[in-house]
Amino acid sequence: MGKIRKIIVAIDGPAASGKSTTAREVAKKLGYTYIDSGAMYRAVTLRALQEKVPVEAQQQVAELAQKMELKFGWNNARTIIYMDGEDVSEKIRTPLIDQKISPVAANPLVRRILVRKQQQLGRVGGVVMDGRDIGTVVFPQAELKIFMIARVQERALRRQKELEQKGMKVDLEKIIADMEYRDQQDAGRSHGPLKKADDAVEIDTTGLTIPEQVDRIYRLAMEKISETTGLV
Ligand code: C5P
Repeated sequence: MGKIRKIIVAIDGPAASGKSTTAREVAKKLGYTYIDSGAMYRAVTLRALQEKVPVEAQQQVAELAQKMELKFGWNNARTIIYMDGEDVSEKIRTPLIDQKISPVAANPLVRRILVRKQQQLGRVGGVVMDGRDIGTVVFPQAELKIFMIARVQERALRRQKELEQKGMKVDLEKIIADMEYRDQQDAGRSHGPLKKADDAVEIDTTGLTIPEQVDRIYRLAMEKISETTGLV
């Protein structure tokens, strides 16, 4: 009897395209681990701000990234990221981090460090990881690659709702402008740009509900699992 092999599911796409909620749910259904790679870039940005290191200072920011210990924890409803033992899950999701993150994400030294950590986390398979370069750089061998897109207006509304739930009121136009800026920076950088892998399945989530998105990706994952192992 064959052994059920655990695959890697890579989910990439622009900001607020529904990646993280969907990825987390898909992981839960598959019994896999969900890893939010964006949280790692956010944590490095937070640390730079805390240490008053300019986010553009490539060497210094990379040193912070190298030194810090990042760990993920899970409880039913959410993913927790620990930076040197502290739960920073809330602190990394603010409009200030959104505004400051692009130079950190474009820093090739930081990317090298974080990509290595991500590869380590996915070493044994059985992970769903979301980000920008997961299917192209981190796991080019991933059995299933998804590229999620959605209309900017819808993505901005989702982000506005998320922020509102945390008690932050931000103007929609401002969210759209920040999001478009961040996406342009992500798509235009030379290291690990936001890009659809040639073999990725594109899913436009505009008008789709989360359960619909989860269901589509889950089905694709089950197909891949049976293709690669002959078992489901
Ligand atoms: O996914 P999230 O919006 O939390 O990511 C925040 C930022 O981190 C992105 O805009 C991008 O600049 C960076 N990022 C990245 N590569 C990844 C994941 C996130 O450059 N794999």
